[in-house]
Amino acid sequence: MTKKNTFQFSNCAIDDPELFANKKEDFLEKVNSFVDKSLLNSAEEPREYLGASLLGNKCARCIQFTFLGATPDKPDTGQQKRIFEMGHVLENVMAQWLRNAGFELETRDESGQQFGFTQADGRIQGHVDGIIRSGPLDLKYPILWECKTMKSAVWRDLVKDKLEIANSQYFAQIQLYMAYMKLPQCLFASLNKDTAELYHELILLNTATAAQYSDRAVQILKATESNEFLPRIATKSDWYECKMCRFYNTCWGD
Ligand code: SF4
Repeated sequence: MTKKNTFQFSNCAIDDPELFANKKEDFLEKVNSFVDKSLLNSAEEPREYLGASLLGNKCARCIQFTFLGATPDKPDTGQQKRIFEMGHVLENVMAQWLRNAGFELETRDESGQQFGFTQADGRIQGHVDGIIRSGPLDLKYPILWECKTMKSAVWRDLVKDKLEIANSQYFAQIQLYMAYMKLPQCLFASLNKDTAELYHELILLNTATAAQYSDRAVQILKATESNEFLPRIATKSDWYECKMCRFYNTCWGD
């Protein structure tokens, strides 16, 4: 004879299971929308300075639009915000892995702020991921630490081609950071977000490259202050980089 189950979940009973089943999907969608709403409401204040991380962008006019705080054609979505925040979380994980491996890595100064620099009376600024003070590699410390997380296809291109070829924008950013921070070496770290594979590259300061991008920053500041737009990257609006640009309508529209 089967023993009767006498345990009752009396306090947990769902009054109307059918009604619950019908509403369930709707409830779950609402959770997502609550999360995204809070992310989108916590939008960052527009920057008043030209970020050094922008200066490697191939299109000077695109840098100007970002610097001027132009409204992108499409606002960021909650998913884009989530991807961005996940990147920050993973960078902290990467920093801890390096510390555990014996690197004396600092990502914040004594007041809890990111290390960084200002140039041109504060009109050019940058914030670095960290500074390695010592470690098991035979290097002349301190060295800059920069970290990026990437999806698998992009990460594989990086491993194959190295940073200068695979991502000229990150490369320019690191060259400027090394020059302005007076740290002539950078340990560049990249995590494959899909497989957790790691890639590290030691990048040395190339003063000519850094000067080239520093001059570009001055050119962009001067043009913007004179209410001039620098040339577009292309002469026709169907150029592939324009089609992917977040300021396409602002740039090519009437
Ligand atoms: S649409 Fe093209 S030219 Fe205009 S800002 Fe974007 S990339 Fe530059």
